[in-house]
Amino acid sequence: MTSPAYIGRFAPTPSGYLHFGSLVAALASYLDARSVGGQWLLRMEDLDPPREEPGAQDAILRTLETYGFEWDGPLVRQSERHDAYAALLERLFSQGLAYACTCSRKQLEAYGGIYPGLCRNAGHASEDAAIRLRVPELAYHFCDRVQGEFRQHLGHEVGDFVIRRRDGLYAYQLAVVLDDAWQGITDIVRGADLLDSTPRQLYLQELLGLRQPRYLHVPLIIQPDGHKLGKSYRSPPLPADQAPALLLRALRTLGQQPPGELAGASARELLAWGSANWDATRIPRSPTLAEAQLR
Ligand code: GLU
Ligand code: ZN
Repeated sequence: MTSPAYIGRFAPTPSGYLHFGSLVAALASYLDARSVGGQWLLRMEDLDPPREEPGAQDAILRTLETYGFEWDGPLVRQSERHDAYAALLERLFSQGLAYACTCSRKQLEAYGGIYPGLCRNAGHASEDAAIRLRVPELAYHFCDRVQGEFRQHLGHEVGDFVIRRRDGLYAYQLAVVLDDAWQGITDIVRGADLLDSTPRQLYLQELLGLRQPRYLHVPLIIQPDGHKLGKSYRSPPLPADQAPALLLRALRTLGQQPPGELAGASARELLAWGSANWDATRIPRSPTLAEAQLR
């Protein structure tokens, strides 16, 4: 059996604009794919319309273009994949692998974010309820290409998790696993804020008989106060007129060593250099990097 060629992806959520942390993740996934002649797909994770920033989808696409990124094939939007999510949800529910939960936020406050299984055997109908996936009392682990061995006990550290919210919206965990498999993704390169989502995704892959992709989690860029760089802290959207400078900075953040001659290079030229010289083993082996310390 031949192994499939490399297929990577970038999967932004349009709840805000791309910021420097997103650029680092996009660049890593792009270069990791292109350096081996792989494909790089783009998927808009627009599962949550109430939290979507108006105009963010267009702005993300324009920013990626300005920064020289070229993706393969048509853009996939999760908002167009609801039938697939509904069918999977129905199957998990009817097989008893998932169940309806009517607990209120207030009822769950005392449990520190780990669902205690209150509705596991209640047999609630699925209407007007959240749907949770039963997790096994097992540790799941994987070897991340940058962060090394990562292990999490699903029963103790996560609990039965939501795959469809009470308001009917599908959860990221469900959609991401289904779409990565559907798009044939072989390599997931993304921010380390998703390290602790990965064991849930491994369990879903196992349950559905899907192939496990390789994982590479790049350091999350954080603010000096330790906060994640992102929309909630108003980190500035990536400026269109500073693409080369910020790409250079992102390359260095990823441990790459662009030579001084690249000072006047265009975004496209920087990406070409990055693909030709990509060395993932140079990425700092840390789940976070403070923005202030970046060159
Ligand atoms: N949509 C997620 C985000 O923007 C990334 C999902 C993923 O790469 O698995 O944080
Ligand atoms: Zn419940």
